[in-house]
Amino acid sequence: MYAFEFERPSTLDEAVKALGAEGAQALAGGQTLIPTLKQRLAMPETLVSLAGIAELKGISAEGGVLTVGAASTHTEVAGQTAYPALAHLARGIGDPHVRNRGTIGGSLANNDPSACYPAAALGSGATIVTNAREIAADDYFTGLFETALEEGEIITEVRFPIPAKAAYVKFEQPASRFALVGVFVSKGEGGVRVAVTGASEAGVFRWAEAEAALASDFSAAALDGLSASADDLIGDIHGSPAYRAHLIGVLTKRAVQAAG
Ligand SMILES: Cc1cc2nc3c(=O)[nH]c(=O)nc-3n(C[C@H](O)[C@H](O)[C@H](O)COP(=O)(O)OP(=O)(O)OC[C@H]3O[C@@H](n4cnc5c(N)ncnc54)[C@H](O)[C@@H]3O)c2cc1C
Repeated sequence: MYAFEFERPSTLDEAVKALGAEGAQALAGGQTLIPTLKQRLAMPETLVSLAGIAELKGISAEGGVLTVGAASTHTEVAGQTAYPALAHLARGIGDPHVRNRGTIGGSLANNDPSACYPAAALGSGATIVTNAREIAADDYFTGLFETALEEGEIITEVRFPIPAKAAYVKFEQPASRFALVGVFVSKGEGGVRVAVTGASEAGVFRWAEAEAALASDFSAAALDGLSASADDLIGDIHGSPAYRAHLIGVLTKRAVQAAG
């Protein structure tokens, strides 16, 4: 590690002001950022902790929408009962340490191409709310570790419309428990959504062909004969693009079956 300033604001306004300073960066659960600092891949002058800000906490369900404060840990999200598919996803993240420290806001801000929450947000048609605006999930994920967030912008909460049916199925990379491929499927008022994580160089994406097939027949059989393209998929020591494309098809069927 190296020397840096540490600020611990207690209100959102104070945090926004602190993050407006040159070289300042938000710190949530630290599960991604602290290892990054240790490796000196980032060297912010000031870390602004979001841990003491009450406005970023709390989970509530009202009018068919689950609102999750950005500083909610994976364990807290796993404990809510209003959106079972989201709870299941959160329960499957990393290990107890990661789930007790890591937050939904940190995960969505980081937008790791193998992370689970991006699939839930895109696959549910969620809205990412910041200190400045509301961003539809369809507009939020802009590429590998890239999002629509501006410098110093803070995610305050995430609003998930609770669909009639939904499920997340992940094929884990066994060492990290990140998704080698993960598929989130939902059927709600906005139609059918299929979001795929872990597979693409460009990060999470919607599988339009599967959504079209499931729109008229929400069953695993409706996906028979459909295969995802291996173009632009990740190829690494864990799996080739063709392997990941195959997994997308298999996991989407399993997710539809699990969603009922
Ligand atoms: C061993 C291990 C296994 C893991 N397995 C999985 C897994 O299976 N699935 C999965 O999805 N993830 C996994 N993760 C990642 C984990 O979910 C992290 O919690 C998450 O990526 C980052 O969240 P954090 O709260 O720790 O954020 P931090 O590390 O504190 O911050 C990450 C980034 O987000 C920014 N940030 C944080 N909060 C906000 C906010 N509210 N607004 C704007 N910017 C913000 C920070 O400035 C930083 O750039 C794993 C991590 C580890 C270490």
